[in-house]
Amino acid sequence: VAKPDAILVADDMSRHFGGVRAVEVEHLEIQRGTITALIGPNGAGKSTFFNLITGFDRPNSGRWSFDGRDISGAPSFRIARHGMVRTFQLTKALTRLTSLENLMLGATGQRGERLLTSLLRPAWAAQEAGIRERAEELLARFNLSHMRDEFAGTMSGGQRKLLEMARALMVQPDMILLDEPMAGVNPALTQSLLGHIEALRDEGMTIVLVEHDMDVIMSISDWVVCFAQGKVIAEGRPDDIRRDTAVIDAYLGT
Ligand code: ADP
Ligand code: MG
Repeated sequence: VAKPDAILVADDMSRHFGGVRAVEVEHLEIQRGTITALIGPNGAGKSTFFNLITGFDRPNSGRWSFDGRDISGAPSFRIARHGMVRTFQLTKALTRLTSLENLMLGATGQRGERLLTSLLRPAWAAQEAGIRERAEELLARFNLSHMRDEFAGTMSGGQRKLLEMARALMVQPDMILLDEPMAGVNPALTQSLLGHIEALRDEGMTIVLVEHDMDVIMSISDWVVCFAQGKVIAEGRPDDIRRDTAVIDAYLGT
């Protein structure tokens, strides 16, 4: 039974690739306004789970709701409009567009394939000023204003991670899913990324992140969910999870 402040509730989610049971989640809830860490060994199904609930992949079975609304099977752009967005483990910034253009494109809730149709919509011109303003604000927030007119392809890995997060925020989501936001980011930028994530939570946003670094997890997450072989094998407060024998086995036993 869903807790009263669950923003995301997923039931009986499964996704199989041939014989691989990538995701087999009976029940998972994310509580509103928290930072939840998804942990687990490589191949545990974390990214696939993100793909399913954000509409980038279709499950073999499953129902899930966001903010009390059944969004099972909805396409990703619609889910983004309802307020749930995600970033990708490998950044998807369009390298031949500038930072500013990447962000403005994010406002459409599209990923780029439909750039032209998005830009040709009559609504675009009317909205453009507001979208540009929000993009500039986010560039400033993430200390990327100096990269405004640079091609994303020229940015460092860490800057691209920030750009990707900023782009996801263009639709003013209630919940953001970050797939390994710290991977390949230098230590100085990691601290600033963590600060940004905490600030978003403190503003009321719900955040789910896939992360491997236990120190990072312990320092920022309110709740930890451990995946192994597609299933949720444990969840709890960070301090309890780090001592959980099933979690320790999942990491050490593979
Ligand atoms: P994680 O993000 O936890 O490392 P993934 O969700 O990426 O794990 O992968 C879970 C399992 O599903 C792995 O065994 C992976 O090889 C498999 N898998 C993921 N995506 C695909 C795909 N598109 N085609 C085939 N197998 C896939
Ligand atoms: Mg992954």
